[in-house]
Amino acid sequence: MVHHLNKLLLGLDETSLSEVHQLQCLVHKDVVSSLLQLEREATDAGFALKVASSYRSFYRQLLIWNNKAKGLRTTLDAKGKPLEISALSDKEKVFAILRWSALPGASRHHWGTDLDVYDASRISSDYQLQLTVAETEGDGPFVEFHCWLKAELAKKDSDFYHPYAIDRGGIAPEPWHISYTPLAKKFASIFSFDLLYQQLAATEFELKTTVLDNLEEIYDRFIKGSVNT
Ligand SMILES: [Zn+2]
Repeated sequence: MVHHLNKLLLGLDETSLSEVHQLQCLVHKDVVSSLLQLEREATDAGFALKVASSYRSFYRQLLIWNNKAKGLRTTLDAKGKPLEISALSDKEKVFAILRWSALPGASRHHWGTDLDVYDASRISSDYQLQLTVAETEGDGPFVEFHCWLKAELAKKDSDFYHPYAIDRGGIAPEPWHISYTPLAKKFASIFSFDLLYQQLAATEFELKTTVLDNLEEIYDRFIKGSVNT
């Protein structure tokens, strides 16, 4: 049982997942009814809630990590501008990637409890979704939706919360990222440094030595305050 839960926390166990056809996403089976209810409430408020990202496996996150480390996928700076990754030292690379992307094994998307959502009613079908703060502020297309979502999640009986609502100098704020509270809080309390260290030590990936050498600092800055939120 403990073994099974550890695998789930690392994105290595898919037996508890369920597909939500209406939203074309994969989530933990316990999340389905609350998610569909949130979607209905969004519809009633005049929005079209869609899911950009839900469950993501350890190996999917590993591929994202490796592609960013190799410069095959864009890494953004603190202001959201593309960064020239090859000009950085290995340690700088690791910390630049971590601002926007989780280490494999340390993404809340592994749990099936966390989702990135947006409002399809305010964009055209060929719109390139970015999931940036700029889309949620000023004259961005999702301003009204995020205003509604924030109020919805602040309600006492809400099943979801924003784990990355404020910028603590670690992961950038992600208003589009919501988390299913009952399960995510439990998973967060079980997730640990040792669990992550053991999995990463047993895996081959880009910048591995630098990551393992700095894992305590990484855990404190990017994981403890977010995964354990
Ligand atoms: Zn997310």
